[in-house]
Order: sequence, then C-alpha cells, then structure tokens
Amino acid sequence: MTLNAVLDQVDGDLESSVARLLELLRIPSISTDPAYKGDCDTAAEWLVDDLQSIGFDVSKRPTTGHPMVVAHAEGEGPHVLFYGHYDVQPVDPLSLWDNPPFEPRLEDTDKGPVIRGRGSSDDKGQLMTFVEACRAWKTVHGSLPAKISLFFEGEEESGSPSLVPFMQDNADELKADIALICDTGLFGESTPAIVTRLRGLLGEELTITGPNKDLHSGMYGGIARNPVRVLSKIIASLHDATGKIMVPNFYDGVEELPTNIAQQWNDLGFEDAEFLGEVGLGVPAGEDGRTGLEMIWSRPTCEVNGISGGYQGDGFKTVLPSVASAKISFRLVPGQDPLKLRESFRAFVQAQLPEDCTVEFKAHGASSASEMSTQHPAFEQARAALSDEWPNPAAFVGCGGSIPIAGHFKDILGMDAMLVGFGKDDDQIHSPNEKYDLSSFHKGIRSWVRVLDAMSK
Ligand SMILES: [Zn+2]
Repeated sequence: MTLNAVLDQVDGDLESSVARLLELLRIPSISTDPAYKGDCDTAAEWLVDDLQSIGFDVSKRPTTGHPMVVAHAEGEGPHVLFYGHYDVQPVDPLSLWDNPPFEPRLEDTDKGPVIRGRGSSDDKGQLMTFVEACRAWKTVHGSLPAKISLFFEGEEESGSPSLVPFMQDNADELKADIALICDTGLFGESTPAIVTRLRGLLGEELTITGPNKDLHSGMYGGIARNPVRVLSKIIASLHDATGKIMVPNFYDGVEELPTNIAQQWNDLGFEDAEFLGEVGLGVPAGEDGRTGLEMIWSRPTCEVNGISGGYQGDGFKTVLPSVASAKISFRLVPGQDPLKLRESFRAFVQAQLPEDCTVEFKAHGASSASEMSTQHPAFEQARAALSDEWPNPAAFVGCGGSIPIAGHFKDILGMDAMLVGFGKDDDQIHSPNEKYDLSSFHKGIRSWVRVLDAMSK
C-alpha cells in the first residue's frame, strides 16, 4: 500500500534522518547576535543543499536581515505551504548546559532517547520532520503527493523584522491552499494537537499625575490627592467579584465555544489543580463558571504586568508621590477589536479620574486574535491522520499566547494556517539543555506522511 511503503521508508531511514538533523544542529544560527550572521547564512545554505537533493526548486533569498529559504516542488493535489524557522535562541548561561549546545547528540534518558542541543525542538527538529516526510515520499514514489512549497525564515527568534515585507513582496509565490506550521507542541505527552485559536494582545501603559512634585505626607497627607491611591482604585475596578472584566463593551463580539470544540477540550482531561500546582498555586483565578482551558484558550483577560509609584528603596520614606504608573495587558479572543478596546479602556480610566489629576497613556502592541476556519477540509483530514499515528485522538486546541506568523498568512496571503507540532512541555526550548524526543522526531515525520496522504485524497 502506498502509505505503508512510505511509513516503512521513514522507519528504515530514521538513523540517517537523525544524522542530517544533527548536522543542521551543529550550525550555531543564533539570529539575534550579529556575531553569528555568517552561521545563519550557513544554515540557510545547508537547507538549500538538502532540499535540492530531494528535488525541490530552491533558493536562498536575501533580506535586510538573515536570508529566507523558499522551495517549490510540483505534485498532484492541493498546494500546501510549509513554514518553519532555522534560527535559534542564544545559549547563555553556557555553564548550565551539560553538553555544548552546538555539539548535539543522541542521548538516553529515563523517558527514552532524546536529541540534545540548541534548536533540537525549536525549531530545527520540527522543521526537519516535514522535510524528512517529503524525502521519504519522494524516495518511494519518485514524486510528492501534493504541490509543496517550503518557506523557512532565519529571524523568528529575533522578532521577524523581514517577514512581513518579504511576504508582501512575494505574495503570489507564497500563496497556497493552506499553510502548515510546525513550531508548537503536543498536548501532554502523546495527544497530537492542531492549534485553531490564538489569542491576541493589547498593551497599555498609564501614568497618573497628582501633585506637581513629591510631597511630605506629614505636611500634605490628608489634603493632597495621592496618585497611587487613584491608580489602585482604578486597577481594582477592572474586574468584578466574579472575575468579569468591567471595561465597557469589553465582551462585544466574544462568542461561546462551538459545542464540538468544547467537547474535545473536556475530553483532554485537563486538571486545573495539576497545571497550577506546578507554579505553586491551586485555585483558578479567571471568570466564575469557566473551565481552566477556557480561561487560557478562549476567554479574554486583563492583567496588571507592572505597577510603580512612590518610594521603592530600602527603608521607609513618608512620601506622597507625584506620579503612579502601571502596565496593563489584555489577551484578546476572536471578535474583539483591539483598537476599539484601547479607546474603551482609556475612557474607563478617564471617567474615574479626580478633577485635579491627569493621566497619560502610552500604547504598546495591539494584535487581534485569530481563529482558523476548521471548515477547511484539511483540518478534519489532518485530525484523522494524526489520530492514526498517536495513541490518543488528535484535538483542535487553543493557544493562550500569540503566534504572529499565523495571522500574517491570513492577513497578507489570505490563507488559513494549520499549526501542528510535536514539541513537549519539558523540551526546554529557549533554555539550557534543549532536547527533542527521538519519538517526537520519528512520529512527527510519520505524522506528516499521513497528513500529506490524507490531504492528497
Ligand atoms: Zn520556534
């Protein structure tokens, strides 16, 4: 059978697949540090050579930063665009690594063999799962099951400054039926997850000024307005006793989760106490009546990220401060308009300001949430294919943070993105001793073979 022959090829070739990944991991492509500019270029070159050997029409494309790698191969069936990044995070503190970060190795652990080294999970190992799937397919059949384009960037870990302009300039070339992104994780140890919802973010900084200078609280305390008190009162008014956010019109456009998704989330067996237990907590602090997964994946939030005012040094000073400030962020869900909410929040603060105080606002990031239209047949095809490979059925999940690339595919190229990844919570990405389970790598390759097979039908 076609599919089984390719899966057998993956199994038989695993040792060489690992060897190729180790080669790529030896290149210290740290994008944020100019000292490694040449290495980023070398990593891009390595990918060009490797993809050429599979038969891709591939080029390294210059940007004002690190190059992009773009490759195309003709095939029957739908056109898919696969995205990954070849750059990695810095490695310090180096002293905490048990093994040099760019001398990767296969290592036995209590939980099975792992590939250890910077980039093994984020994102070189994940990127290579798809490349190896293409290689196996090509080896067995001489062609690919779909028209496949690959798009690799080298600046993901340093803010992707060239990404949007490059996508805009090359929109026609990059546009496909669907984008596949491999830079996320499994749910738990063995449940494949397809991210279909990403929260957006709105950041605001406010500074409240009362008296025109710091005052002595003995001389002025009681008669003069204290901006720290004003700010505290405003912050305290952001949530009611049930955890609901009180900014007017905040929930406009927010919809309830579709029942099939709610069911999938319930089936995941997420334990609030266990999740919170790892950070020394035990009681969910979101809106009453919501599950833990809703709180992190599908409900909007308002959090105070920083607060300052008055005397912060050692000892004690009876100051009545002139200014007080706070940094506040909102995680947004589909339906919410970040710019309207910014206005709403500012009006909410203004309305509570005493006559002789002023407030200044500083805008930080504003990005909308995104929700993939799981109506696209590729989503159900991928879910079935992943469920065949892993012990647990695959689920459509949310992501509490934001992954800007997914939004760019939608906004710039008008295509949905499907985020599937095989990382684990303990991969220590961005930290010393990063690893990728050998089983994640192996089953990851097999997963893409199955997904491509399902999508080509
Ligand atoms: Zn990444």
